[in-house]
Amino acid sequence: MIRFEQVGKRYPNGHVGLHELSFHVQRGEFLFITGHSGAGKSTLLRLLLAMERPTSGKLLLAGQDLARIGNAQIPYLRRQIGVVFQNHQLLFDRTVFDNVALPLQILGLPKADISERVQIALERVSLREKAEQFPHDLSTGQQQRVGIARAVVHRPALLLADEPTGNLDPRLAAEIMGVFEDINQLGTTVLIASHDLALIARMRHRMLTLQRGRLIGDGEATE
Ligand code: ADP
Ligand code: ADP
Repeated sequence: MIRFEQVGKRYPNGHVGLHELSFHVQRGEFLFITGHSGAGKSTLLRLLLAMERPTSGKLLLAGQDLARIGNAQIPYLRRQIGVVFQNHQLLFDRTVFDNVALPLQILGLPKADISERVQIALERVSLREKAEQFPHDLSTGQQQRVGIARAVVHRPALLLADEPTGNLDPRLAAEIMGVFEDINQLGTTVLIASHDLALIARMRHRMLTLQRGRLIGDGEATE
């Protein structure tokens, strides 16, 4: 599903985000990207979202070369992807239902379809009964789960997360990772950038380790 072939990213100011990075991800995989601050994790995610272009190499996502994709294609590309942020970026003046419905409203889906899909997404994160509440009525962990529901409501093939447990205590962080595993079980490819090595090690999934833009490790995380 994802093929990085000697992908390089050099920013206009000369900083190297990624250096000749090569790896493949199969459809349905669950993997972590780890590395210290500045290792290139965010750059990797931004390349997959076509927010940045590779400056060398080949980057294929579902058969499309993201180094060559036209701007007009980018919205279609992003419909195949869901994104979870560290600070979930919920709208606090809208209900949980409306927060999750937003991506579908932007796509212009009929109301009945939106309602059904939002219920399913909320069910997946065990928050169906919170639909009419506002984000500030929810705990931090519940808010993050709303962010995940919003990221998967359009049924993306690929789910990306950037430090999704960064603000959570260890117990909640483990719970959120369990939600990602449930979503992966249903067939979605999941790629999580995180530097929470203790948590990653307990989950025993594939882990790519970046250091200054280079891949220095690729294998099952272990304690
Ligand atoms: P994180 O470590 O959480 O990825 P950073 O502080 O590295 O956060 O980056 C925060 C934002 O600043 C990112 O959007 C990144 O693109 C941008 N950024 C990081 N380094 C630079 C830089 N040297 N010049 C310009 N923007 C940068
Ligand atoms: P991480 O997410 O692992 O902290 P980043 O991808 O943010 O790493 O950064 C990798 C390298 O690329 C760093 O040297 C950073 O300063 C640089 N970088 C990231 N974003 C930008 C940007 N927008 N402009 C210039 N340099 C950047």
